[in-house]
Formats: sequence, C-alpha cells, structure tokens
Amino acid sequence: MKAGIVGLPNVGKSTLFNCLSNAKAQSANFPFCTIEPNIGVVNVPDSRLEKLEELVKPERVLPATVDIVDIAGLVKGASKGEGLGNQFLGNIRETDAILHVLRCFDNENIIHVDGNIDPIRDKETIDIELQLKDLETVEKKLEKVKRAAKTGNKEAIKEQDVLLKLQKGLESGISVRAIDLNEEERKEFVAPLQFITDKPVMYVCNVDEDAAVNGNAYVEKVKEAVKDEHAEVLVLAVGTEADITELEDYEERKMFLNDIGLEEAGSAKLIRSAYKLLNQQTYFTAGVKEVRAWTIPVGATAPQAAGVIHTDFEKGFIRAEVIKYDDFVSFGSEAKVKDAGKLSVEGKEYVVADGDVMHFRFNV
Ligand code: GDP
Repeated sequence: MKAGIVGLPNVGKSTLFNCLSNAKAQSANFPFCTIEPNIGVVNVPDSRLEKLEELVKPERVLPATVDIVDIAGLVKGASKGEGLGNQFLGNIRETDAILHVLRCFDNENIIHVDGNIDPIRDKETIDIELQLKDLETVEKKLEKVKRAAKTGNKEAIKEQDVLLKLQKGLESGISVRAIDLNEEERKEFVAPLQFITDKPVMYVCNVDEDAAVNGNAYVEKVKEAVKDEHAEVLVLAVGTEADITELEDYEERKMFLNDIGLEEAGSAKLIRSAYKLLNQQTYFTAGVKEVRAWTIPVGATAPQAAGVIHTDFEKGFIRAEVIKYDDFVSFGSEAKVKDAGKLSVEGKEYVVADGDVMHFRFNV
C-alpha cells in the first residue's frame, strides 16, 4: 500500500519525506529503506509490537510498513502538462491514499510560489489540477456511454446519469470523494474509473514549532474548509521534527519533543494515520524466532490473513488459533493463555480483528 505526498512547491514535502525516511526517527532496530529517491518504506510505529517483543524475546521483530512516495513538482497548470505535470499526475494515480501538505507557517525567507501564505488557496490550486485530470477521465468515458445510452440500454442510461453528476461536480470544484452519490453508484460506476480525487486524503498542516501542539489560525481555516470532506487534518511542525530526527540519541530526541509539548513525534502519528487512511489493520504472529506485524485490509478473513504470509497458507487453510492481544499481555505467554482457556480456534469464516495474535494450521 502506497501513500503519496502532494502539495505546492516549498510547502515542506521533501522535508516531511526526509523526516519520515530518517531511520533515527524510529526505533533503532527498525531500519528504514529507500527503494528509489522518492519512495520510502516506513515502519508503522506500534507500541503493541514492543510489548510483544518484551514478552516473547524473539530473535527479531518486524513491524508493519507503509510505502511513502514524494510526489514533487505538482504546480498550477499540471493537468495541462505544465512542468512535468502529467507525469506527476500519473504517479499520484498509482497511490492508494494522498497526504496533502499545506503550508501553515510564515517565513519571509522561504518564498511562496503565489506570493503569500494561504493554505486554502493552495489546497484549491492542487485540487483543481487533480479535478481537471478526473474530468478528462469522465469526459472520455461519457463519450462512449452516451452512444450506448442513445440505443436505450438501461445500464448505460444509469451510468450516464452518474457520469453527468460527476462532470457537474468536478466542473464546480468538488472532488469525487465529496460528490453526492450513493454506495451502489460508487461501487458500480465510480470505483472502476480510479479517480485521483476519490482517493482517501489527509491534510497535513505544516506549522512552526510554537504551533506544533495547538495549531494556529491557518490550521483553523483549513479545518473549516475541509469539514465536509470527512478528511483528517493533522498538525505537524515538519521543519522542527526534521531537526529533531537529526539527533543521534533517543533520550535527547525525546527531550526535545517534550520541550515543544509533544509526547511522541508527530511523524509517528502521521504514519499511523496514513495506515488507517489506507483502511489497513494489523495482526501479529509471535514466535521465538520472530515477532511480526502483518498488514491486512479491514474485514479480511482468517484465510486471507494467512495468505499474506504465504499463498499456500491460504489455499491449504485448516484453522486459526487466535489470542486477543490484551489476553496475551495480561497472561504473559501463549502457554498461559492456553491454560486459561483463552485461546480460540477459528475457521474459514472468521473475520480477523485488529491486534489478534494468530497461528495458522494448514495442509501443504
Ligand atoms: P517542498 O518543495 O514542498 O518539498 O518543500 P521543502 O521540503 O523543500 O521545504 C521548502 C523550504 O521550507 C525548505 O527551506 C525547508 O527547510 C523549509 N521548511 C519546511 N518545513 C518548514 C517548517 O515547518 N517551518 C519553517 N520555518 N520552514 C520549513
């Protein structure tokens, strides 16, 4: 699963990317790796994993990860091929969720491409480019569907209605995710077109140090502007956090974070939020060789969860032994959980819950 960082130039995207990709920002034994200059695999901070490590004392610990892509270069006119516009829009299309960085800090030394600080205008500038791209998609599809609709094909008429609604919405500056359509219309006609503005989004307000905890007037404006989008708004002092991640010593980093009023790095919260935004959740395997967090979509069944480890596990699935995370912690070990009768045996229909500690039985 991939989350893409977008925003106008000079709002702090690459600072955020570097901050997330800095191994020191995370627990020392969870190294970060960069696949390409603008793609990074980021570990999802999870205190449950640390607790399991403490109890099981495994040889190694593997956290869940999210891929982060820095999509630089999105400017006004990108949808018309301005700059390297189309290429960047192509990169966004490949992501599963969008982290939209908005500049909410004043600093005369850092030039704003449009002259002054106005996160709402910035957001609209980016949104319009993305919406224009989606509008192209709608219009291409509409051409085809119109022909079929003319012949009286009922399905095509239904689809045409939806496409016209999308067209109207996009033309008036509404993103696909906020256009008024029912679930069935979305599933049947909207989802297959993979619109950019239908992807889940989180707004990251980049603020100065003194606003790291409570935000500022710009942040309030952003919250007000996006309230109908049901999107999360996260406040992050990107520059400050980037400085803090440069520090070698964990205790020192913690001290600096506490100094600005934070208990943990905002970037850690951002990664966890991105994971949720992608509609993913975690189950654990906890053996002496390895304690590991596995990523599955919310709603996945036990065989699907097994399939994330190996496709053969899914094919040959017999049953899953499940321990609730809280039980694992309160009893302290798998054996004690078993003795207490708290281990449950689940079949193919079992829907995995976030935090389940699992063991699979399968035929090979
Ligand atoms: P990008 O073009 O969106 O990738 O922006 P950069 O990450 O390159 O940031 C542009 C400039 O703003 C750099 O000089 C950063 O050091 C600076 N910057 C980024 N975040 C902050 C911040 O939170 N506060 C301040 N004062 N400067 C920042």
